[in-house]
Amino acid sequence: TTMKTTNSGSGDVRLTGISKTYGSFTAVHPLDLTVPQGSFFALLGASGCGKTTTLRMIAGLEEPSSGTVHLGDQDVTALPPYKRPVNTVFQSYALFPHLDIFENVAFGLRRRGIKSVKKQVEDMLELVQLGEQARKKPHQLSGGQQQRVAVARALINTPKVLLLDEPLGALDLKLRRQMQLELKRIQTEVGITFVHVTHDQEEAMTMADTVAVMNAGRVEQLGSPTDLYENPNTTFVANFLGTSNLIEAEVDSKSGDDIVLKAGGGKLVLPESRCSAPTTTGGKVLVGVRPEKISLTHADDAGEIPEGRNRITGRIANSSFIGVSTQYVIDSTVCPEFEVYAQNIDRDARLAPGAEVVLHWSPAHTFGLDAAQD
Ligand code: ATP
Repeated sequence: TTMKTTNSGSGDVRLTGISKTYGSFTAVHPLDLTVPQGSFFALLGASGCGKTTTLRMIAGLEEPSSGTVHLGDQDVTALPPYKRPVNTVFQSYALFPHLDIFENVAFGLRRRGIKSVKKQVEDMLELVQLGEQARKKPHQLSGGQQQRVAVARALINTPKVLLLDEPLGALDLKLRRQMQLELKRIQTEVGITFVHVTHDQEEAMTMADTVAVMNAGRVEQLGSPTDLYENPNTTFVANFLGTSNLIEAEVDSKSGDDIVLKAGGGKLVLPESRCSAPTTTGGKVLVGVRPEKISLTHADDAGEIPEGRNRITGRIANSSFIGVSTQYVIDSTVCPEFEVYAQNIDRDARLAPGAEVVLHWSPAHTFGLDAAQD
């Protein structure tokens, strides 16, 4: 199926100074955000962070307290939802129970007075892989299939933007994962801009080209999933997207493009470009490293660790075999309160609880956060 849209000109979604207050409560602080045309964009954050409100302002379902919404060159801020080239898919599929799948999908075309809908509806049903189900009623389909009908119904009028508000929230985990890949495939095929709201970091990472991480009504960081994961700018983002090991350190000196930090008795090296904290000598920095970037070596073999790696010493508190890898919890001697999860370690019988170990990793996998930001 080829369902590429033929939007002419730029179709970016552009939010400028958009905000929403309810009485004295600010749900969304003034926000500037551009969603590039044709991208899969995720608004990610915990419950109550303002992501749904932001989505509803794009849809026109919520009136902003300030700011403007543009779709391409068009200022749509004052337009009601039905006049915007936008469609929304909600968690509750809201299909018409008395209509079959074909007619559910055809609905938008028929309402616009289009008579010959057969080809378009069949193409759309094929796109969402429901060609065989055309004559069934919604209640005869599974949750995942019903959600695909909802997506087909929303796409049939070729909106410029499809908004998805926790569309997979009602599905069980396995189906959810399948649908994540399925939605990603559909988006790539049709090339329409998708803006997807979710609280599930894995879901956002799996599907989106760009993720905006929201916290308390603000976008904390915007970037590709790998950017956000490997180089978070705040402790919130670091902790929200997976496990982060954070070590309290102090800026000691600079060496070329690197910062040298003191942590306990030792030194850690961090590329300056990967540090979002001020780097004045004596300043406090939280040094972070993701668990799977860490190698673990028994203290007796410490001499074998290559030069130039960051290292801290510790003692294994706990280890658990989790199939693909072993997860270690380490009590660090440099930071007594601190634990590290290290994965993908070659099996070494000596790496058991109580063993003295060296944790080491590449400076390139190290990031620096502002210890004073919160
Ligand atoms: P969730 O995933 O739980 O829907 P969210 O991140 O989408 O969370 P929003 O629905 O955007 O959050 O709500 C942001 C904040 O605004 C919340 O604290 C919510 O209680 C508040 N809020 C939303 N709608 C209203 C309203 N009509 N009146 C008052 N407060 C509201």
